[in-house]
Amino acid sequence: MKRILITGGAGFLGSHLCEKLLNEGNEILCVDNFYTGSRKNIHHLLDNKNFELLRHDVTHPLFVEVDQIYNLACPASPIHYQFDPVQTTKTSVIGAINMLGLAKRLKIPILQASTSEIYGDPEIHPQPESYRGNVNTIGPRACYDEGKRCAETLFFDYYRQHNVDIKVIRIFNTYGPKMNPLDGRVVSNFIVQSLKNQNITIYGDGKQTRSFCYVDDLIEGMVKMMNSDKSFTGPVNIGNPREFTMIELAQKIIQLTGSRSELIFQELPEDDPMQRQPIIDLAKNKLGWIPEIELMEGLKSTIEYFKNLKKG
Ligand code: NAD
Ligand code: UDP
Ligand code: UDP
Repeated sequence: MKRILITGGAGFLGSHLCEKLLNEGNEILCVDNFYTGSRKNIHHLLDNKNFELLRHDVTHPLFVEVDQIYNLACPASPIHYQFDPVQTTKTSVIGAINMLGLAKRLKIPILQASTSEIYGDPEIHPQPESYRGNVNTIGPRACYDEGKRCAETLFFDYYRQHNVDIKVIRIFNTYGPKMNPLDGRVVSNFIVQSLKNQNITIYGDGKQTRSFCYVDDLIEGMVKMMNSDKSFTGPVNIGNPREFTMIELAQKIIQLTGSRSELIFQELPEDDPMQRQPIIDLAKNKLGWIPEIELMEGLKSTIEYFKNLKKG
């Protein structure tokens, strides 16, 4: 049994990770300031004697005793991370410094939830880990992209300078149950709109692409990375390489929900990446990980979750 700190544990990915690691017999310390996360996501875990919840903002130092850290704290959807961009950068950068300081003092492994967004609007397609990215440093997405890039820099400097056992994963668009229906991400927006037979809002011409990974696959990859050989720091892409346009995604969701929704076209947000698809050879070779859940299958469970939310 390990004592595992999960920052951002009340969020979409964090709550799935809390559940998995708890079920595997570990003690979980979930740290969250509820900026975008919700008590509802972890409500069912609160009675478990091995689960502890601490309301705390990672931009402040944290002194606890644990065996591993998963650093997930950070708003992740464009509308949330652009709501208070200065706070977003602070969370990524100062949060990383504090969690790395904690890992350094305790001499424990720490995993960083980095993102495909560090590649910006990529000029190389699909993206290998060696691609250095194309980010607009002064655009509206920069608070997130540059914050996450700086966090990666800090991870590698703590590794070189202080020998901290770091693990960096670059997560590509992930979807599934417990996504926040109001956070504006494409999968949740399209499902919510379809279930209400409302117009489906396609930004731009809908030909931009994303590669969607189901949450269970993603969490599996994350845990495999944490438990991989100490010499493997990453960064490693974790995502599903099947690429879809936003129009294809909308059509699939309409088909699965039997919705009468129609597509409407709205302005493309500034700096919105045109394409995104991971090369996952490194994850396959080093972690023995490949995603298994097809988009249609993953969408079905996600739609079920949103249907039940509506009832509740
Ligand atoms: P989320 O918004 O659901 O979860 C983030 C959690 O962090 C929330 O519970 C929020 O309250 C908490 N948080 C934010 N600022 C905090 C602070 N200063 N102190 C403590 N807690 C704080 O987002 P998510 O989709 O679960 O993403 C989790 C992590 O994975 C993020 O770091 C995100 O950048 C990364 N990621 C997610 C995706 C994706 O597709 N979901 C893709 C790439 C990277
Ligand atoms: N830190 C923390 N918990 C710890 C150890 C450190 O929150 O258990 C914070 C500490 O407050 C500092 C940051 O992590 O702001 C970086 O720590 P480090 O030891 O690298 O730097 P220093 O304390 O020397 O500035
Ligand atoms: N998008 C869309 N309609 C929506 C929400 C998003 O067409 O209602 C588009 C958005 O412009 C982007 C893609 O879907 O091109 C993925 O958006 P999301 O915010 O989910 O993820 P990210 O842009 O961070 O990859």
